[in-house]
Amino acid sequence: MSISTLGARLRSLSFVGLLSLVALPMAAQAPSTMGLQRDPRIAAALADVSPARLRALDSVLVSFGTRHTMSDTVSSTRGVGAARRWIYSQLQQYSRDCGGCLKVEYDTGTAVITRHIERPRWPIVNVVAWLPGKDPNRVIVMGGHFDSCVCSSPNPMDATGDAPGADDDGSGTVAVMELARVVGKHFPQGLDATIAFVLYTGEEQGLLGSTQFAERLQREGKTVTAAFTDDIIGNVVADDGRVDSTSVRVFAVDSLAVGGGELARYVWAVGAVYQPDFEVLPVLRLDRLGRGGDHAPFHRFGIPALRFSERLENYKRQHLVTDTFEHVNFGYIAKVARLNLATVVSLAAAPSRPVRTAYGRDRESGGQSFNIRWDTVPGVIAYELLVRRTTAPTYTRIVPTGNVTTFLLDEQLDDVWVGVRAVGPNGHRSLTTVVGAPNGPRLPNPPRTPQP
Ligand SMILES: [Zn+2]
Repeated sequence: MSISTLGARLRSLSFVGLLSLVALPMAAQAPSTMGLQRDPRIAAALADVSPARLRALDSVLVSFGTRHTMSDTVSSTRGVGAARRWIYSQLQQYSRDCGGCLKVEYDTGTAVITRHIERPRWPIVNVVAWLPGKDPNRVIVMGGHFDSCVCSSPNPMDATGDAPGADDDGSGTVAVMELARVVGKHFPQGLDATIAFVLYTGEEQGLLGSTQFAERLQREGKTVTAAFTDDIIGNVVADDGRVDSTSVRVFAVDSLAVGGGELARYVWAVGAVYQPDFEVLPVLRLDRLGRGGDHAPFHRFGIPALRFSERLENYKRQHLVTDTFEHVNFGYIAKVARLNLATVVSLAAAPSRPVRTAYGRDRESGGQSFNIRWDTVPGVIAYELLVRRTTAPTYTRIVPTGNVTTFLLDEQLDDVWVGVRAVGPNGHRSLTTVVGAPNGPRLPNPPRTPQP
C-alpha cells in the first residue's frame, strides 16, 4: 500500500475511532453520546434539581422512625402509614404548583409476606404521581422504594424499632419525589409518553410493591418503554475510606431481545450529553450479587429495566440502624437525579422504537451488504441504524436512513450488532432495537422472487 493510500485510509477513519484505537488504555471506554442531541429544555430542568430539597425531604422520611412495610399505619408521626401519607401530600403539592399536571394516587393491593414466619397477607400501598403524556398507553416508570428495614439485624422482621433507611432507600425516594416536582414544573403539559413516578413499599420483603405495579401495568395493557429504579444512591465513602462522588453504576441485563443493554447504553449516552463529568458505569447484569431491586419484576415481563446505585456501598450500614442521615451525600444524589431526569425526559420525548426487524443478504454485493427492514413508527421523521462490533460496549457508527423502513446497509451483518431507532420531529431518539436479535420479534419475510 502506498503512503498516500494509507493516508487516505487513515483519514477515512473517524477521529473518535482513532482515539479509541490509539490513545485510550485497554480498561477505559470513551463515553459515547451515540448521536443524541442536547435539548435546552432538559438542560434548564437539570439546574432545578436541588440538593437542599433532597436533604430536607430525607430528613422528614427518617423522622418517621421506621417505614417497615408491616409497621404502624395509624400514627401521623411514626411508621409506614405516616410516611406514605406525607409522600402523597408532597406530590399533591407539586401538582398544585404545576397547575394540576400530576395525577397522584395510592396503588393498593395485598401480598403474602413469605419471609414472615406466619406468612400473613398484608396491604401493599405504593404512591404514584402520573405525568400524563400524549400517549396514555405508553409508560416510562421511574421508581424508588420508601419502605425501610433492619433485615440484617438479629430481628429481621422488626416492624417497631428504628429503621432509618436514610440511604436504602431514602436516597432513591427523595430523588424520585424531586424528579416529579422538577419534571412537572418544566413539562406541565406532559411529553409524548406518560411518566409514572412511583414510590414502592414492600421492597425489603421481596419486591412486593414493584411486582404489584408491574402486574397492574400488564393487566391494563400498557406498553412500558422502560422501567428504572433508584435504590441506594447516596453513599460516597467506602468502609476503607475511598471516596467516589463522580460516578454511578447502572445495572441492566444485556438481553438483545428485551433491550436491557440497549437501555444501559442509552443512559450512558445521555450522561455523556448532559453531565459529562459524572461517569456512568454500565454493569450488564440484573443486580449486584445476591441482591435485588424494583426493576427486576419489569425485566421478568420482558421490559427494558435498569437500576441506578451508588458506586461505593457500605454493607456495614445497609438494613441496619446505622443507615442514618449523616452518611448520605445530597450533592451526589442530585447528580444521580439529574442523570435520571435527562434519561426519563429524553425517552418520554422520543418516539417508540421499532418493534420488529428483519434482514436479508444482498446478492448484488456477494453477501457483503444487508437489506435491513423494520416496523413503521407513527409520527417520526427519520430512522437511524447504529453499528457496533459484537465485542464493543457501545455503538461506534450511526447511519441515517431517512424516513424509510428498508435500507441497504454496507456492513457484514454476520460480524456486528446493528440497532435501529426512530427520530422524532423534536430530534429525540428512541431506544434501539437490535436487528435480528435471537428470540427478538421478527417481521415476516416478503414473498420470494423466483431465481432465474
Ligand atoms: Zn433498597
